[in-house]
Amino acid sequence: MNKRTESRSIVIIGGGLGGLAVGSYLLMNGFRTHILEQANQCGGVAVTWDRKGYRFDGATNYLPGSSPALNAHNIIGEIIDLHKLRFYDYPEFIRIEHEGEVFRVYTDAERLRKEMLRIAPEDRKVIDEFIGAVKRFGAFNLPFEKAPETFTVIDALSFLAKNFPLLMFRQKWGTISVERYARRFRNRAMRAMFQQIFPHHEHFAVMAPIAPLGWMNRKVAGYPLGGSLKIIELMEERYRSLGGTIEFFKPVKQINVKDGAATGVTCDDDRVYDADIVVSAADLHETLFELLGGAFTPRGFVKRFESYHPFSSLVQVSLGIKRTFDGEAEKLNMPLDKPLHMGNHTARDMMVRILNFDPVYAPTGKTSVIVQLRTEDCDYWCALRNEDRNRYNQEKQHVAEVVTESLERRFAGVRKNVEVVDVATPATYVRYTRLWKGAHQGWAPTPGVIGRPQPKTLPGLRNFYLTGQWESPAGGIPAVIAVGRQVAQIICKREGKRFRGSVEGKGK
Ligand SMILES: Cc1cc2nc3c(=O)[nH]c(=O)nc-3n(C[C@H](O)[C@H](O)[C@H](O)COP(=O)(O)OP(=O)(O)OC[C@H]3O[C@@H](n4cnc5c(N)ncnc54)[C@H](O)[C@@H]3O)c2cc1C
Repeated sequence: MNKRTESRSIVIIGGGLGGLAVGSYLLMNGFRTHILEQANQCGGVAVTWDRKGYRFDGATNYLPGSSPALNAHNIIGEIIDLHKLRFYDYPEFIRIEHEGEVFRVYTDAERLRKEMLRIAPEDRKVIDEFIGAVKRFGAFNLPFEKAPETFTVIDALSFLAKNFPLLMFRQKWGTISVERYARRFRNRAMRAMFQQIFPHHEHFAVMAPIAPLGWMNRKVAGYPLGGSLKIIELMEERYRSLGGTIEFFKPVKQINVKDGAATGVTCDDDRVYDADIVVSAADLHETLFELLGGAFTPRGFVKRFESYHPFSSLVQVSLGIKRTFDGEAEKLNMPLDKPLHMGNHTARDMMVRILNFDPVYAPTGKTSVIVQLRTEDCDYWCALRNEDRNRYNQEKQHVAEVVTESLERRFAGVRKNVEVVDVATPATYVRYTRLWKGAHQGWAPTPGVIGRPQPKTLPGLRNFYLTGQWESPAGGIPAVIAVGRQVAQIICKREGKRFRGSVEGKGK
């Protein structure tokens, strides 16, 4: 092993899944890593919490790569001990209830075709085309094993040859929005409900819903039993077992730079951590404009903040309910009883996750239910919390009441069985993770953005790297693992080392 690089020390900002992933890959390659996390635990946006016997988890719905049939499985397996995970395959991706009609979005593509034809027999041509795309996408491997920044000419040519069908697919399905594609349906109900497969994400490229439907049809994107907490525990276990260290309650306030190179970081408590290399796995906007003070933000990045669309923010009402929901879909989108005005945003429907398929969430006979309302007005909640805490709390209570009333109408008797209510707002997300605009999965996969590689280094700043969900639009667990892998590959290449994706020394 190269002695010079063996002792290179790396500070990683952020102990979300992105920080843990890049840390593990760097440790496998002989670097020393130390994670500084501002919160009291790892996990970032995938955080899970317990209240009175109920567990609330708003994140992990499914893990692409749950089966070896998808190449992501091998990569995830480098960072997560998959032998310790069991998976559940949903029969329905989501059930949409809209103006008296019900659309069951089955994960089996042929059942889905029949369901769409039941609702919109006049749209057979569009339905057949869409189902064909779902089936085709499921067969693709994901082209993220190697960082494009480390490609030789031969690598680039073989990448193009190997992934040509996927690139063509992306050219067609990754450049048209869900909303525009939905206009092809003549049936009014189908046109509306198609846009709710990902509720309120009609500006996404239509490839965004095609991807999970394609994977689920092939049964390669199951839900990991134990949810986000299990994933965080396994990733933290992997990182620590490789010798990585973590400090909590350590908000970084500045990335230190000398002569055009990062030299370490300074935390809020003024403690300085010197390092040979700094990797930021924290929010992108915070990294560029706060920690680096905007000094190394090339025009391309500024343009992204002007033209890309971040994910919406979330208001999450978590309910502990003393009853079961047998026979109900695991996820449904349903109307609210009355519109909820939240600043400049009005919510008219809500997404409900009934976590009755995993025993970790509630004792027998009880159910943890997560309701999510999407909003583009994160600033409203942050300002309200800062300026008027009483009104902020009243607003949270009002949201919880409207949500509970709406659930009562749909599931008679729910109200009297509610044992726990917990409301998180975009201000909660910002406080716990420092996310820009509360964008819970970074850049949205809008037309033309989906699959586009994002720069992991900044011009004029040596020894500094970016990783995490903002580096791969749409985010996701496999994405942050893959980006961490690619950042480690780039660092290895620059340090003259051969990258290893395992500790056993098998080069991958
Ligand atoms: C509602 C929801 C549903 C999801 N569903 C799925 C799914 O079904 N499947 C899937 O694969 N993925 C899913 N994801 C996405 C996945 O969970 C995320 O993409 C991933 O966890 C992001 O990890 P990250 O480390 O890049 O970012 P983050 O989680 O944001 O981590 C960044 C970390 O940096 C810390 N930090 C920030 N600033 C500082 C600072 N100055 N100093 C120190 N620390 C700092 C934060 O506290 C945080 O811990 C979902 C996410 C959400 C929120």
